[in-house]
Amino acid sequence: MTTAAEANNQDGAPSSDFIRDQIVADNENGRFDGRVQTRFPPEPNGYLHIGHAKSICLNFGLAEEFGGTCNLRFDDTNPETEDIEYVEGIIADLEWLGFESSDGIKYASDYFDQLYEWAEHLINNGLAYVDDQDAATISEQRGGFGQPGTESPFRNRSAEENLGLFRQMRDGAIADGEKVLRAKIDMQHENMQLRDPVLYRIRRVPHVRTGDTWILYPTYDWAHGQSDAIEGVTHSICTLEFADHNPLYEWCLSNLPLTGDKPYQTEFARLNLTHTVTSKRLLRKLVEDGTVDGWDDARMPTIAGLRRRGFPASAIRAFMAKIGVAKNNSTVEIELLESFVRDELNARAIRRMAVLDPILVTITNWPSPGGSDEVVMVTVANHPNDESMGTREIPFSGKLFIERDDFKLDPPPKYYRLTPGREVRLRSGFFITAVEAKTDSDGNVTEVLCTYDPETQGGQSPDGRKVKSTIHWVSAAHAVDGTVHTYDRLFADSHPGSDGTEQLDSLNRESRQTFSAKMEPSLAETNPSDVVQFERLGYFAADPQDSSVFHRTVGLRDEWANIQKRKK
Ligand code: ATP
Ligand code: MG
Repeated sequence: MTTAAEANNQDGAPSSDFIRDQIVADNENGRFDGRVQTRFPPEPNGYLHIGHAKSICLNFGLAEEFGGTCNLRFDDTNPETEDIEYVEGIIADLEWLGFESSDGIKYASDYFDQLYEWAEHLINNGLAYVDDQDAATISEQRGGFGQPGTESPFRNRSAEENLGLFRQMRDGAIADGEKVLRAKIDMQHENMQLRDPVLYRIRRVPHVRTGDTWILYPTYDWAHGQSDAIEGVTHSICTLEFADHNPLYEWCLSNLPLTGDKPYQTEFARLNLTHTVTSKRLLRKLVEDGTVDGWDDARMPTIAGLRRRGFPASAIRAFMAKIGVAKNNSTVEIELLESFVRDELNARAIRRMAVLDPILVTITNWPSPGGSDEVVMVTVANHPNDESMGTREIPFSGKLFIERDDFKLDPPPKYYRLTPGREVRLRSGFFITAVEAKTDSDGNVTEVLCTYDPETQGGQSPDGRKVKSTIHWVSAAHAVDGTVHTYDRLFADSHPGSDGTEQLDSLNRESRQTFSAKMEPSLAETNPSDVVQFERLGYFAADPQDSSVFHRTVGLRDEWANIQKRKK
């Protein structure tokens, strides 16, 4: 079994796969004169999610490997759902992931003139016609698998009539939805996509880029392949759900006055992750109904959410390199992605102490010269196995906070942490022994009274006696306050919706827990987006907007390793 760390090392050397094999073969055959040009074509109707990151790593990765180019191209053909916020968000996310559009940012809307001209070319060649029927009728007439399609009564208009009508559609003489332009292919074709697909529809909706220059908008099928051809794309790579559009992609290109090698489409399996929904439509719903705080909520599988959560871009890239591309849909365990994140953070995150759910510890034999408590500064390494990360000084005093969970009045079996009569180590501090606890009227512990052994500074006992556990702490008077969010899965089911229910039915309504934490003083200096390890608790990312707020990125335990063990 390859561990995440080993695969990480292979990051720079992706293994071969069917797409890379195809490109190698194309290059050997002199197709495209050995050129490789890919693109990443999102529709700006939402933010990018982890699934898009797979497509980005693949398309930009191929360009890098083969000395080619890759452009970000917005598929902005549907003004009703698109927004400048999404355009800007996608540009920022791509950059954060570590990729750059080779030749500036492209927009399908830049090609509206050329696309229109080519539509007239189809009309002139008897390959497209204006249909007066409404969308419902057209859809009905398409038939289905094993069911014949029905030809539109408008299918055999003359080229001249079609041209006149199409120009009227463009020029505003026709109402929205009253006419469409359709390709004239084959209403009996076994592939539904070839049953006279719609190429243009009228929408009097202003467009983010073209304003109200156009009311005629191309469909995805008409815009996509043609945009590829205009840009000189060689390998048009998309997910499997577009496989049945592939013959239409070919049909369009083969009927246009193009010279040279034409781009061709290849499909790969989309990324599915357990406990995760990767559909912009559903993610938008979570945002709109207030289930999450926004597209960049740290629970969201969006690039913006993962960034806020503290996932390093390099860990996402390494994960994508590890899982590779395939032709069959499958679902990858989210724990694998998390193990890449953990491996990387383990190596580079500084260690700190923070207490999420504090109870007070008073050390009854702590010296108080002149009546005021003594403070001892203890020196602690910032990383257990990387000296270059240095050390820091932490104040230790007679009043400390520890986790509520690290003390029990009535300990269950095998509980080795603090309990009356038991000695534990305070990490890098002293050994303490609990004597008694104060409780409130409900029996909740409010304060633990302990003694300490002054000989154990730094967490070592001179007589070599052992303690069974080491717990973290902060000095009460010196602690800084912080807000800490811990997260559970946003979707409780590993495969949301797989049992025939709605994906959103599996929403975990308790996916976020918020704590008013007490943190060691140096955490006041955390910069936005820094990720640190809180000893014993996991990795936590400072919020990009407010560095006194922390999000738990991942816990410390390698759950991927456990899954692998269970599978054996
Ligand atoms: P969504 O269903 O989330 O809206 P989409 O495919 O409609 O996704 P686009 O903006 O059209 O979103 O996608 C841009 C590119 O990203 C497409 O080439 C698409 O194939 C690819 N893509 C989308 N989702 C995934 C995924 N889960 N895994 C891999 N690639 C994906
Ligand atoms: Mg789409």
